[in-house]
Amino acid sequence: MVALWAGKLTAAASRGLRRGGGTTLPGDVSRWLDERILVKLAAALPDSSLVVAGTNGKTTTAALLRHILETEGRTVVANHTGANLVFGVTAALVDRASWRGTLPAAMGLFEIDEASLPRLVREAAPATIVVTNLFRDQLDRYGELETTASHLRTALTYGMEGVTAVLNADDPMVAALGDGLPRVRYAGLDDKTLLQPELSHGADAKLCPRCGSPLDFEGVYFGHVGRYSCPRGDFDRPRLDMRATSVRLEGVDAMRLSVEDEREEIEVRVPLSGLYNAYNVVLALAAAGALGISLRRSASALAGFRPAFGRMERVLIEATPTVLLLGKNPTGFNEVLRTSVEFGGGRSFLLALNDRIADGQDVSWIWDVDFEILARAAARIVVCGDRALDLALRLKYAQVDAGRMEVVKGWSAALDRAVQGTAPGQTLFVLATYTAMLELRAVLAHKGSLQPYWVDRSAQPEPETPGGPAGK
Ligand SMILES: [Zn+2]
Repeated sequence: MVALWAGKLTAAASRGLRRGGGTTLPGDVSRWLDERILVKLAAALPDSSLVVAGTNGKTTTAALLRHILETEGRTVVANHTGANLVFGVTAALVDRASWRGTLPAAMGLFEIDEASLPRLVREAAPATIVVTNLFRDQLDRYGELETTASHLRTALTYGMEGVTAVLNADDPMVAALGDGLPRVRYAGLDDKTLLQPELSHGADAKLCPRCGSPLDFEGVYFGHVGRYSCPRGDFDRPRLDMRATSVRLEGVDAMRLSVEDEREEIEVRVPLSGLYNAYNVVLALAAAGALGISLRRSASALAGFRPAFGRMERVLIEATPTVLLLGKNPTGFNEVLRTSVEFGGGRSFLLALNDRIADGQDVSWIWDVDFEILARAAARIVVCGDRALDLALRLKYAQVDAGRMEVVKGWSAALDRAVQGTAPGQTLFVLATYTAMLELRAVLAHKGSLQPYWVDRSAQPEPETPGGPAGK
């Protein structure tokens, strides 16, 4: 109780100081006082927890699932974007618990960094673990892809008895994680019209996870995610339990999917676009199925979904329609670039690159992004951020005409220039790394174009305090 109260008081103080979303400090404080506090709080959730791990798509997959669960009337406690270590999960539970230690939620829904997953599984004993994909990300933090995969394997094997794994079958390294597990549901795409013939140059996992031979790819949907098999015959794409047989992207705002599982086949329209989001949708549907929610019910819930922070968010800056897209690694950035050019008809761009801890301090990954697409498509590009000059150099090598590109210092000035450079009737596409997106959003919130993101996220009832209703 002392640990819980100390954590809750820290959270209240930090809100009072307007430290805003994503804080993990209450988790640090509570865990320092009682190292088993997460074990105790997680055990108090009657429907256990669901955890989403993987390089890209964690936040969107978790947000889709949360929307489905809440539409079904199930109450969830979720961690904030960016607070995806064990401390962030602890902070979320401490914050949501009452001062008596009870939790007004049926289940936990947490996104978690791969390296933290084994510890989270040991402490929170989740019933469902979703793995979206594995890409090279922030090498300075996690080392090689194999290390990341081994963290995931450790976690899945540890929790094996009680866990249902929901895995992306089209990512070879993720599919291989299902080996030997008692309960696995595989999700993926089965629309050959969308396959691309070759691996883009950011592609990572090209080798068979069993024998190390180069995999044969019939084609990829993005990165190394696609239809593959090992020429030696020891590894194939698993049979899909949840599959999208057709995906039609409708601009940058929506897509329509035909999805089927072993029971039914349905059409679903979701206000998200991009093939990487099609994966987030089928994984969320598969996870919801593992929790006993039928495909039909999940699909109807998703029609009312609203995108999360920086994932295809639409805002209006003065009169200019603007789409905010987060890109934090080569594959993620390639996909948001492709979606904005091919499906959004993007001509005007604001690109923002930072190298703070949450972005990854090594920015060499920008050389793996196919910025060449902008040399053909973009009429105007404004570049900003702490590492704007590195990005401008990368664009120069991508043959972007210097006359169409401008480096602007300062977040507010960069947004102004980008808006001025967007022709009437066009949409401005803002592509930014994590902390750059936070900076740009702070400017937009100040201009009245949007709400600070933690305002939306804390739209849950405040738990009661000993002295009456909290913080009013
Ligand atoms: Zn093989």
